[in-house]
Parts: sequence; structure tokens; C-alpha cells
Amino acid sequence: MRQLLPLADPYGRVATDLRVSLTDRCNLRCTYCMPPEGLPWLPTPDVLTDDEVVRLLRIAVERLGVTEVRFTGGEPLLRRGLVSIVKATAALEPRPDISLTTNGIGLERVAAPLAAAGLDRVNVSLDSLDKDTFRTLAHRDRLDDVLLGLTAARVAGLEPVKINAVLLRDVNDHDAVPLLRFAVDNGYELRFIEQMPLDAHHAWKRTAMITAEEILERLSAAFTLTPDVVERGSAPAETWLVDGGPAKVGVIGSVTRNFCGACDRTRLTADGQIRNCLFAREESDLRAALRGGADDDELAERWRAAMWAKKPGHGIDDPSFLQPERPMSAIGG
Ligand code: SAM
Ligand code: SF4
Repeated sequence: MRQLLPLADPYGRVATDLRVSLTDRCNLRCTYCMPPEGLPWLPTPDVLTDDEVVRLLRIAVERLGVTEVRFTGGEPLLRRGLVSIVKATAALEPRPDISLTTNGIGLERVAAPLAAAGLDRVNVSLDSLDKDTFRTLAHRDRLDDVLLGLTAARVAGLEPVKINAVLLRDVNDHDAVPLLRFAVDNGYELRFIEQMPLDAHHAWKRTAMITAEEILERLSAAFTLTPDVVERGSAPAETWLVDGGPAKVGVIGSVTRNFCGACDRTRLTADGQIRNCLFAREESDLRAALRGGADDDELAERWRAAMWAKKPGHGIDDPSFLQPERPMSAIGG
């Protein structure tokens, strides 16, 4: 008889939300994530096959109590098997909630097939509505593709369509208000994310980042924000009603208002490593076990052991904090 034993840690948290990175490759080079020249990509044989991903997803849902699956990357739309992976995920019992974080390039083409395969929602990353600023920040002239992708997501019913934005001082910090106006006018839910020390070139500085408080200050100059009374639970975003609602804006203060105490996440990288935290410096190699012939029970047990080793918090403010070796694009944001 198959046993359901959840992904618990010694601090009373239980992980039910799985982030799956489907590739470390990307077609943008966002300054806070990747260097302009790109990174050495994972060799193809190291990347889990579609069948391997689906097998681990089944173990996560059936044996470990995962109820939410978010596909990410790198850029997950670059993964050829994405639609069939989503379809197989939607066939799992009990069916998990399925979402995708994407830069939106190519979404115009695949939003409808993804929705038909069972994708529930998308988050599209968009840091500026100004073509020049977008190009400076992402090192590619693709703003129009992202905007087409956003519209396609809404038309396909992948709602609520959320927009993720990261503000960088003197690069796009003037975009906070136009981004919120755009989101409110078009029915998208905007969330600002504080920049985290996960860039490939380790250039992040605590003193330079735009804090949640600053973001709120900037927005408050143009909008009336009132705290949303909805229970936050394990959601990382604190939300505010915009001009009395129903539109909302979220701020994810990953650094200055961390939510580690309520974290319910577990992560699988494209090369089959379990990470118990974005900032973990150790990973647990499920790919080697899987390819070495481990059965589902053993893989589930390894996954549980990896989560039991989760630290109470990310420790960014500790003097001993060390940034993880892998950047955000390779971990899966
Ligand atoms: N390529 C997809 C995208 O951009 O949405 C998915 C992967 S990306 C790593 C996921 C999210 O992480 C994006 O919303 C991106 O803005 C965010 N992100 C990347 N690097 C970050 C950093 N250093 N700090 C905060 N957020 C970051
Ligand atoms: Fe690519 Fe997303 Fe990283 Fe930007 S944030 S470089 S779109 S993986």
C-alpha cells in the first residue's frame, strides 16, 4: 500500500508547493539574473527527460502531498515538452494546481495549448513598459513579444494573470507607477519582488536594492493603497487594494520582510536536484538515484530527507551569509 508522508522539516513547516525548473536556458538576460553573455548551459544529458520529470511529479503528488506545481526556469517556454508535461501533471491524482512563471516570449503561440493541457495560471515577468529601459535591463528588444504574451494569457483564461516586476535603482525604478497603472487598466495583478542575491555575477548589494518600503512609498505617490484583509497564509506577497479595489498590488519583501517561517516550498532543478530553499548551498541528487534504479519509495524518502535538512531561514542578513553557487536561472525562480 502506497504511503503518503509529507515533506516536513524540524521547524514545523510542510512543503506542498513544488517549483520545477524545466531548463536553465533563457532568451533574455535580465541584469539581476544572468550576465549579458549568458551562462554555460547544462549539457542535455544532464537535464531530466520529460518522463523523468513526470515520474518525480507523480511521486511528489501521490506520496509527498504536493498540491501545487509551478513550472519555471530559465525560460520554461523553451522546453519542447512543456505542453505534454503539463498534460501529464493535470492527469495526476489528486490533481495539483498548475501554474507557470515565464518571461512571456512565445506565450502568444502556446497560451491556448497550455490552457487546453490543464495549465491553470501564469505569472509573466515584466520590468518596464518602456522599450529602451526593457532593452537595457533584459539585453534584448522583446517588449512587444511580452505584451502579446500577456494578452494571449488573458484570452486563454489563464487567470488571474499576474505580472512579476523587479525594480533596480536608476534602471527601472521610475517604472513602478506606470507598471501599476498598466496592470490596473488591463486587469493584471502586479507583484513587485525585492531583488535578491541570486545574480550569476554576485553583484547584489543590500544597500543598493529597492526595498519593499520604497516600492510602497513610490506607489503611494500616485495611488491610495489600503492593506488587503485577506489572510496571507504562506503566500509570499503582501497585498494592498489599489484606490479602494478591486484591483490589488502585491509586494514580495523577500529580503526585508522575509516569510521563511511560513515557507511551504520545495524545488526541483532541471538536472534533478532537490533544493529545500532558494538560498540553500546543498542539493540532493535525485537524478543519480533515479537513473541508478531507485524505486519510488526510495526517491520519496530521499526527497523527505532533503526537506528535513531545511534551515529555519535564508539568513541574508547574517554576516556569514554566502550566496548560493547557482544563480536564479539555474535554480528556478
Ligand atoms: N524566465 C522566467 C521569468 O523570468 O519569469 C522564469 C524564471 S525567473 C528566474 C523567475 C522570476 O524570478 C522572475 O519573475 C524574475 O524576475 C525573478 N528573479 C530573477 N532573478 C531575481 C533576483 N535576483 N531577485 C529577485 N527576483 C529575481
Ligand atoms: Fe531569463 Fe527569467 Fe532570468 Fe530574465 S529572470 S534572464 S527571463 S530566467
